[in-house]
Order: sequence, then C-alpha cells, then structure tokens
Amino acid sequence: MQLTFNHQVSDWLLGTDERQRIRLRRTLVAAGVYLLAALGQGWVAAHGLAQPLQAHALILFLAPGLLGFYLLIRSGWNLRFADPALTMPQMVFAIVAMAAAYVINPPVRGMLLMLVALVLMFAAFTLSPKASRLLGWFAVIVLGLVMLASASLAPQTFDPTVESIHFVFAAVVLPVISMLAGDLSAMRSRLKVQKAELQEALARIHRLATRDDLTGLVNRRHMEELATLEQRRAMRSGSQPCLCLVDIDHFKRVNDQHGHAAGDEVLRLFARHASASMRETDVLARWGGEEFLFMLPDTRPDEARAGFERLRRVLSRDEAWGDLLHMRVSFSAGLTGWRPGEPLRDALVRADHALYQAKASGRDRLVEK
Ligand code: GH3
Ligand code: MG
Ligand code: MG
Repeated sequence: MQLTFNHQVSDWLLGTDERQRIRLRRTLVAAGVYLLAALGQGWVAAHGLAQPLQAHALILFLAPGLLGFYLLIRSGWNLRFADPALTMPQMVFAIVAMAAAYVINPPVRGMLLMLVALVLMFAAFTLSPKASRLLGWFAVIVLGLVMLASASLAPQTFDPTVESIHFVFAAVVLPVISMLAGDLSAMRSRLKVQKAELQEALARIHRLATRDDLTGLVNRRHMEELATLEQRRAMRSGSQPCLCLVDIDHFKRVNDQHGHAAGDEVLRLFARHASASMRETDVLARWGGEEFLFMLPDTRPDEARAGFERLRRVLSRDEAWGDLLHMRVSFSAGLTGWRPGEPLRDALVRADHALYQAKASGRDRLVEK
C-alpha cells in the first residue's frame, strides 16, 4: 500500500519515461542546492552580512532555478532541444547566480569562487570537453566583469587589490579545472566508444560461431546445441518436434549452367524463402553444401508437410529467383518425428533414409518416415 503510494508520487513527480526521470532527478538535486543557497542567502542577509534588497532579489532569481528547469523538463519542452538534459543552460544559470551572489555578499565572496569551481567539475559527467572548456572561460569572464565593476564602483567594499588577487586565482584555477573536467569527459566518451566496439565485436564473434556465412542460417554446430535444448524442452512439455532434411535437386546443374556465384545466390534465396515460409519458432540450419536441416518444435508431421508445401509454392514462382535463373529449382525432403529421448543421430538417419527415398522416387517431393 505504502509502496504503491510512493510509486504514484514518484510517477507524478518524475513521469514514467526512464530517461526523463534521470534528467528530472538531477534537476531536482540542483533545485535542492538552490533552495539551500536561497536559505543561506536569507540567513546571511538577516545577519547583516549582505545587502538585504539585493539578497532578496537573488532569492527571487533563484526561484526559476528551483522550479523553471524542473517544469521545462517535466512538461517535455526540453525534448525540442539538442541537449534535452539542458546541461549547458543549467550550468550557465548556476554561474550567473554565483556571480550575482559574489557582489551581494562582500564578506563571504571568496567562498563563492570555490562553489564556481564545484559547478565546473560537474561538466566531467555531462558536457563535451569543448563545452566544458568554454564554460570555464565563461566563468572567468563573468567573474572578471563582476570583480572589475565592483572594484571600480565600490572600491571601499571591494578592495581593488583583493579583487585582483581573486581574479588571478579565478583566471588560473577555473580553466585548469575545466580542462581536467574536459579530459575526464573525453575519457568517458572513449570508454563509451570502446564499450560499444567491444559489444559489437562480441556480437560479431557470436554470429561467426553460430551462423553460416553464406545464408545467415544457423550453422551445423549451433544446430546441434539448439536441438539438444529443444529435446529437453520437448520432453518436459510432452510435445514432439519434427526434423526434416532438405536437399536442393540437381544443384550441380545450377552451378554448371549459371556459374558458382549464381549457385551461391540460389542458396541465399532458398534460405530467405524458407525462413519466410516456415514458422518463427522453426529453426533452419545449413547442414552442408546444399543440404539443410529444419527443426520444427511442437509440430505434427501433417502440419510440417503443410509448411513445406507452402515453401514449394513460393519457390515455384518465377519471381522467387529474380532475374537469376530461367529454370525451376526444387527440393526433396525427408521428414521424421523426433521421438522423446531419441539420440539426434538416430532421428537423422531416419530423415536421411526418407530423403534418399524422395530422391529415388523422382525428387521434388517430401517423404515421411
Ligand atoms: P541431387 O538432386 O541428387 O541432390 O543432385 P545435386 O546436383 O544437387 O547433387 P550433389 O549433392 O551431388 O551436388 C551438390 C553440389 O552442390 C555439388 C557442389 O559443388 C555444390 N555446392 C555445395 N556447396 C556449395 C556452395 O556453397 N555454393 C555453390 N555454388 N555450390 C555448392
Ligand atoms: Mg542436391
Ligand atoms: Mg546434396
């Protein structure tokens, strides 16, 4: 009950889209910091350490930081921008707010330089190296202007010597911090790229190990693994799979009359049509040269027959082969039910006998054993 209520509140506050929720969570943390800053500013003003009017103006300025970015993201407006997390605007906002706080709180202004450094550090997680460096220089320029203006307009409160020291500190330290944050960000991007490359390489290796290069069908080794798994599954569920060996008729003629490349293309097209004609749960493997093994889970032989009839009809259409051939390519098939607990080899011997019979009795047919 309590959990459901918490879920409801969190869905109401953050929405249900996972990426928006991450952005909103970060923005709410920033809003919390602004709230603390506003409270701190109120406290400093109440103790006479800040100019009260400007202090209240700053608190008003922080309010959009508190709510504005949250509302922008919660309403989905942020999705119109290239950076939907609104990182750069949020950081620019924080730096401008701190530059304002610098002028309003003369006795504690040195502390604000540290806070600016802290903001710049966050760039390491969100901004590109270039944007991070730009933001560093932006902070130096904004603070420099604020220091110059306050030292010229109110030299008795903002001692020009102290302002010069502050400026030199800011001009040296902030760009270095931005550079380090940028380097961290570059490292993060490199790791991301490397991770993607590794994942891709793994997927490629997995493909090479389990698929046949030419047709993209499951290869023989992987089919043996899948068949073992299927037999266990079938025995648990009490269902029975069918196995069917399929061999293209007179394939040598295709090679001889049209060339080996055309032969390869026939194998590819055959694989494509077979995959499209059979059920999604059926597994098709290239068993050798122009021979294929079909495994049809939870299928009665008469249902299997219907599938192969469908394939035969597809292959008999002229458009099945494109401009490749002006001859019909047919196949012969040996079908058998795979009995519970029977070794794969034994079932395949039966399928092979059936295939042999199909060839011997004129090809272009399916024999069941
Ligand atoms: P049958 O109807 O008795 O099966 O006649 P067939 O000509 O298909 O018989 P056979 O099995 O003797 O010939 C298969 C041919 O398939 C021989 C081989 O050159 C060719 N072949 C095997 N693998 C490939 C391949 O990857 N690409 C091409 N283009 N041809 C292949
Ligand atoms: Mg053949
Ligand atoms: Mg053959």
